Amino acid sequence: MHNIKNTHTLKKLNKSFDFLVNNPYSSFYKDKYKKAGIKFKSIKTIEQFNSLPYLTKDELLRLSPYDFVFLPLNKINHVVTTSGTTNQNNPLMLLMNAKSRPRWNNHERWKPFLDLKIKNHMLLYPGSSAAHRLAVNFSAVDKGIVNLIGDISNLSLSAKLARRIGLDSIETTASILYLFIPYLKKEYDLRKIKIVYLGGEYTSEQKYKYLQKKFKNAKFIFDFGSVETGGIAIGCEHLLKKGPRFLHPLNFVYLETFNHKEEGELVVTGIEVGRSPYLLRYRTGNHVKLTNYNCPCGEKQLIEVFGKIGHDVISVQGTFIYSDHVHGLLSSYSNYLQTGDFRLHVYEVIKNNKIMTRLVLQLILKKDIKNKEIIKKQILDSLSSKLFLTAKNTLADLVEKQIYLPLEIEFVESFPFAPKQTSIVSHII
Ligand SMILES: [Zn+2]
Repeated sequence: MHNIKNTHTLKKLNKSFDFLVNNPYSSFYKDKYKKAGIKFKSIKTIEQFNSLPYLTKDELLRLSPYDFVFLPLNKINHVVTTSGTTNQNNPLMLLMNAKSRPRWNNHERWKPFLDLKIKNHMLLYPGSSAAHRLAVNFSAVDKGIVNLIGDISNLSLSAKLARRIGLDSIETTASILYLFIPYLKKEYDLRKIKIVYLGGEYTSEQKYKYLQKKFKNAKFIFDFGSVETGGIAIGCEHLLKKGPRFLHPLNFVYLETFNHKEEGELVVTGIEVGRSPYLLRYRTGNHVKLTNYNCPCGEKQLIEVFGKIGHDVISVQGTFIYSDHVHGLLSSYSNYLQTGDFRLHVYEVIKNNKIMTRLVLQLILKKDIKNKEIIKKQILDSLSSKLFLTAKNTLADLVEKQIYLPLEIEFVESFPFAPKQTSIVSHII
């Protein structure tokens, strides 16, 4: 995150604005701002920048990918696409030049890999993300690190590949790794994995603790980003002690929160001219907190990631439900639960002429559990009295105030497979 009061940052924002708005290959921003009544031709003040309308994913989805190209077509040699479960009928595609990615020049991304003499590295992502990550990893390939692509639809095969090559490190999401562990354990000694690089999706505290226990000798590295933005933040060893959601913003993006709230939706602007992301004030759909912080590693900014809005965190009727808090409270019941994972379905219902929020929590019990109803009651009581949904109110308080209905718990056999973790499922339209 750059401080906008800093003239250096303002200059960069202005250069980025100029490049994108006066671009000979795409009139997207010019048209957008003209429609919004933006008259100024350059960014000289904070107020000007803050008056630019936000950019949304829906806008990008409505465009042909060819209308969002900011380089001559003969320079386009790379495409990134979304792999998520949303928008399957209209997947997002961004055309770019593989070498026009910004340089992560305030972090030596491969230093830990070279320090630990990593030779064989596995990428375990859905096909489209794997291709995208491989392109990012070309600098590692140049340093003699083998990037082996695993197959997430055949984890058993991927585990055999890991054994045959003698795997040193793995790059994936926490959700995929969690599913991969039983297969990998069968074929390979998990202690041989020296680096676990978790990138892309948000990793909960509980999942991180669980993975640490499984990969005892591994150094964990976290990054954060999305298909649209590319990588925009990375952890450091000091921040790791605070937890996986604490990261440092990378130097080629300007970060702010939606409507400049202390905590809210992350908005991203690319500030390395001519390089991706070609975004001005893009709403990412991720809930974050941005603060200044003097880290022993030298970085001065902190981004605290709470996850995807509507998946890892949801805001209903002025309250916030964080999946991490639910994970934390459920961890006391690990003797009864088969997995720390859950699905929390959120509905809005009208009752007694009031809109009330209804929560249905799905859990998977261990096979041999007998006193199901007693356990259900215990979890219900614990969550109702300990889950804070505002600074001062627990779920039980909000039930009393008739804002929430009493929590419901449902035991299920399994959750649908998804490469990306979705703990909170919103049914609010
Ligand atoms: Zn740091």
